[in-house]
Amino acid sequence: MKAHDALYIDGAWRPADSGDVIEVVNPADEQVIGRVPAGGALDVDTAVRAARAALPAWAATPPAERAARLAALRDALVARKDEIAATVTAELGSPPQFSQAVHAGVPIAVAASYAELAASHPFEERVGNSTVLHEPVGVVGAITPWNYPLHQIVAKVAPALAAGCTVVLKPAEDTPLTAQLFAEAVDEAGVPAGVFNLVTGFGPVAGQALAEHPGVDLVSFTGSTAVGRRIGAVAGAAVKKVALELGGKSANVILPSADLAKAVNVGVANVMSNSGQTCSAWTRMLVHRDRYAEAVELAAAAAAKYGDRIGPVVSAGQRARVRGYIEKGIAEGARLVAGGPEAPREKGYFVSPTVFADVTPEMAIAQEEIFGPVLSVLGYDDEDDALRIANGTVYGLAGAVWAADEAEAVAFARRMDTGQVDINGGRFNPLAPFGGYKQSGVGRELGTHGLAEYLQTKSLQF
Ligand code: NAD
Repeated sequence: MKAHDALYIDGAWRPADSGDVIEVVNPADEQVIGRVPAGGALDVDTAVRAARAALPAWAATPPAERAARLAALRDALVARKDEIAATVTAELGSPPQFSQAVHAGVPIAVAASYAELAASHPFEERVGNSTVLHEPVGVVGAITPWNYPLHQIVAKVAPALAAGCTVVLKPAEDTPLTAQLFAEAVDEAGVPAGVFNLVTGFGPVAGQALAEHPGVDLVSFTGSTAVGRRIGAVAGAAVKKVALELGGKSANVILPSADLAKAVNVGVANVMSNSGQTCSAWTRMLVHRDRYAEAVELAAAAAAKYGDRIGPVVSAGQRARVRGYIEKGIAEGARLVAGGPEAPREKGYFVSPTVFADVTPEMAIAQEEIFGPVLSVLGYDDEDDALRIANGTVYGLAGAVWAADEAEAVAFARRMDTGQVDINGGRFNPLAPFGGYKQSGVGRELGTHGLAEYLQTKSLQF
């Protein structure tokens, strides 16, 4: 893997002031595959100053020209598709096919959507006797996690640039190589110097310095609820805008009329893909008691089939955390029907696809985000009971409903306290807003709703 020993600031690769280094590890074989600088507070300050200096010209650039740069960015990502997929596989451990289709493919679709939206969005509108101007919020501090390394970056940077904002990105320390590839693509796309800046580094150092920097107008954060809460507090104290995409514990509600085998198989695939490291994963499967035994059998068989087909989790720390939850589930009295806490391989941070039956709603494995390949199957008595269980966590990020009749599934989805629901499986839509109800977050990403996060309105009265 190629690794820059520099930060990308003001249109050039520059050595970091801090001498600290991040060692990048391949979680599949535990080998060090690269070293990148761990930027410090001074590096963050240099990057924020560059972003602020670049702001007036970029904000005044016509939307059509911003759209052209985003289209060039999309093309630069397309040209690097194989390299992106190989890099994500190396630093996250995801299977090559999944890296191609999802880790490289989805961000390209999102970049393309913002190239179009930048050109077509009404940045000015007439409301009665007023003209409303939708203007860029300013300098954005973007802080992203490792689970979908490039998607998380593009879902923030593309709408920010479309809106006319400038950006300082602090990507996750586990997956900085993908972020460096993204910076190369931005550079190639002819985005003016200072409009996008990359500071690799550790969360409590570079991330915190970025969130606290007075030159940042909006902090856009995706990650854990614990860190999100801190960032929200910092932003609140400074009356700074903030967008938070946090954790989830989403419910997959299988209504009695549904095609049970299909719903269970797709549900298991949803949880196991990316080794369970998906914030919107349907980690709680809710099944009517009449069909519960059958569903558990199907889920256990589907998980066993995954066996070797999933990659490792991202780090030793993450593996320890996931194993801890599996042990807790057993201790709480849930019935293990697939997988377990034992390491399936000697090398690499692998966890077996795991399914728990006889899970009750108050158990930790039904309440807390595990972020690993672990599914909890819960039984319900009737629809009201299913709704109570589905809505009975602090989270509300995503979910699914299955029924023979689509209208029946939609009626149930309307009663769910969650930001996104897949009906009978659903399909990814890069224009559909994504984000949380309750403690799953503040704000939305993707499409025009994602763009709106980076805009503020000014009204002119006539
Ligand atoms: P994390 O919160 O530890 O880290 C996320 C980012 O925040 C990283 O870049 C990290 O360096 C940085 N960070 C850490 N401490 C910081 C601090 N004190 N100040 C500023 N920045 C800091 O989360 P993670 O372990 O990287 O990711 C897993 C979590 O992210 C899960 O809980 C998952 O649900 C959540 N997530 C949510 C979404 C979503 O869209 N809602 C998407 C992906 C992941």
